[in-house]
Amino acid sequence: MVSYKNDFSLTTHHLPLTTKEIMRCPFCGNLEDKVVDSREAKDGDSIRRRRECLGCERRFTSYERIDEIPYMVVKKDGRREKFDRSKIMSGLLRASEKRPISATQLEEIVDKVETFVQDSPDRESLTNELGKIIMRELKKLDKVAYVRFASVYLEFEDVSEFMKELKYLVRARRPKKKTDKKTKSDESKTEK
Ligand SMILES: [Zn+2]
Repeated sequence: MVSYKNDFSLTTHHLPLTTKEIMRCPFCGNLEDKVVDSREAKDGDSIRRRRECLGCERRFTSYERIDEIPYMVVKKDGRREKFDRSKIMSGLLRASEKRPISATQLEEIVDKVETFVQDSPDRESLTNELGKIIMRELKKLDKVAYVRFASVYLEFEDVSEFMKELKYLVRARRPKKKTDKKTKSDESKTEK
């Protein structure tokens, strides 16, 4: 029922895909490819992917056992890397240094990101989607951490929103004499 334009589709890979391993083009050996189609195989235990080699542009099919397929994160330039909780965590730690955010709170953010990654049908998510989740959550917790994260992350889509946030923050921090009153409570109310 499924037909292909070329006969390369007969070439399959049955790789014991450990998380480190990358698909290699069976024609030219190139390590970079893009997935042009993914679907669950009939047995439901594997995912069948049509891939196109970025080197020779020929297509091949790979079958990967679902439990062996790592969750991948796709960067802006199209590169994929394995989703790594600790990477997210270290970014969060950096952003929230010396801020009143507990490790548990950060852990919760990482959990949210992970859930999102695991829910993606293709086992692939875009880094900027993850970034958005992180920023949304940080924003609720602490503006400073949020802005720090966003500025590192600056693939910020809505730059004007970011600038607005920044101005707000600068204004809020303008020396109000000695008492560093919590402006937190009303900030969180304006959220959503
Ligand atoms: Zn190739």
